[in-house]
Amino acid sequence: MKAQHLQFVLHVVEGRTRTGSSWPTYITQHGDLQMSLIDKALKANQTYTKKHDRKLGAHPTPKVAVVTCMDPRLSDLPEILGLPHADLDVIRTGGPAVTEDVLGELVVSTRVLGTKEIMLLNHTGCGFTTFTDEELNTKLATLTGDASPAPMRFFSYKDPEQNTREQIEKVRSHPWIAKEVPVRGFIFDVETGLIREVHRASRDAAA
Ligand code: ZN
Repeated sequence: MKAQHLQFVLHVVEGRTRTGSSWPTYITQHGDLQMSLIDKALKANQTYTKKHDRKLGAHPTPKVAVVTCMDPRLSDLPEILGLPHADLDVIRTGGPAVTEDVLGELVVSTRVLGTKEIMLLNHTGCGFTTFTDEELNTKLATLTGDASPAPMRFFSYKDPEQNTREQIEKVRSHPWIAKEVPVRGFIFDVETGLIREVHRASRDAAA
């Protein structure tokens, strides 16, 4: 692995020299030179500052905390939800997993930043349903020849509906999240773009 890493570094240096560009370039598997997208983004950011709304520098006052997956299909939340960026306090994890960190962020979001509602937004076709934690741990330990990080928690799951119900219970039962704050779970259909609500197990049983 070390030899491969060194080779990659050498390619980067070589790429820079060859192009004479101030932006780092990388050689892909096919031998093409490719500019780092992050460096491309930094360059674009210089242009962005000309149209940046300086009012955004003020203290934020979001109204809804949204916990959603890191999947890029959920990135355009203002468009998907019809709410402005400023109203959304977005917390993203893979899955999305409602970890201890996420619970901490929800406590801060509702108690410090002042959000009034919590939306747990799952989706269909999630990458975290395509493996189990055990499978990925085994695969990565074999691939890298290093099992020391195992077992890592990836929070993989199989059923988005069950996942949503568990999330609602986990958030709702946290003693520092006020009972007046609604905690609602949803699934975004990546095919149709439609969001449907998943109700708590107890409510379903009563219905
Ligand atoms: Zn996902």
